Amino acid sequence: MIVILKENTPKEVQEQFIAQLKQYQLEVHRSQGVHTTLLGLVGDTSAVDVSKIESQSFVQEVKRIQEPYKKANRKFHPADTVVEVGEVPIGGDHFQVIAGPCSVETEKQVCQVAEQVKKAGAALLRGGAFKPRTSPYNFQGLGEQGLGFLVQAKKTAGLPIVTELMSEEDLPLFAPVDLIQIGARNMQNFRLLKAVGRQNKPVLLKRGLANTIEEFLMSAEYIMAEGNENVILCERGIRTFETKMRNTLDLAAVSLLKELTHLPVIVDPSHATGLPRLVEPMSLAAIAAGADGLMIEVHNNPEKALCDGPQSLRPEAFAAVMEKIQKTKAFFQTL
Ligand code: PEP
Ligand code: MN
Repeated sequence: MIVILKENTPKEVQEQFIAQLKQYQLEVHRSQGVHTTLLGLVGDTSAVDVSKIESQSFVQEVKRIQEPYKKANRKFHPADTVVEVGEVPIGGDHFQVIAGPCSVETEKQVCQVAEQVKKAGAALLRGGAFKPRTSPYNFQGLGEQGLGFLVQAKKTAGLPIVTELMSEEDLPLFAPVDLIQIGARNMQNFRLLKAVGRQNKPVLLKRGLANTIEEFLMSAEYIMAEGNENVILCERGIRTFETKMRNTLDLAAVSLLKELTHLPVIVDPSHATGLPRLVEPMSLAAIAAGADGLMIEVHNNPEKALCDGPQSLRPEAFAAVMEKIQKTKAFFQTL
């Protein structure tokens, strides 16, 4: 980090300020130019509050050289992290597909879909029991009962399960859950992030609707800073001016994230586009962008679905997409 001081900052003020900065356990190198004084801060600057420094009357500018995220940063952890979900590894050389309905509706529905997606090659089953809906009048999920149905499907199909946690209060119910999803709307619910950071199940963190890549990584950092380093990132589309699709899939973010972090990055083409016919091309494109996996919504009766039916694939369509996914993945492995 570099701090540029205003011209004519008295020597005593500079000395006092340098002493303050050293309290952060940093080395401070001063270089005195004709008009400006530069202070180079060397060491771990992640705990330094930039706005506090900027607010000093004698500071002209502060520039961060290093990213504010440390645990998620590939610079300090060059090897890919492989997250174990149940017995399924994700990341590194392990590409996986998570599939299932948006929400758990009945035991039969989720068990049936579980069998079908497993047969097609999915390694994990998804299904929401606590649903973050835009309208309070829409189906909110079956809650604890839905979790029970999902656990039943886990047993019958033999697939690890992923489901969304909306409140820390519900954590005790999540004991049989293999991967805890933090949804887009909660990406910056810092108390929730800290809560999942304090427990040891892996976390699937979805990118917020209007969050930058750095904010996304800082949210992962919140979880990791509490001790849980098993975080999988999920690009699920962001809000733009475009209205033809539910969101805009930011695939470039996937390639960039793979550079910036060692954490696995997966793509959710269902929420990103809202259009089932775009799930296949965006899945294949996600592989080309370097994704470590996909999360796809599948429903056995999309017309009757209580949530996100229009964007869900039928099991047969999902099986066809899976074939292309496997071929594409194999092709990229030969490159
Ligand atoms: C979901 O996965 O069903 C979901 C609600 O996703 P998101 O948080 O990305 O909108
Ligand atoms: Mn959904």
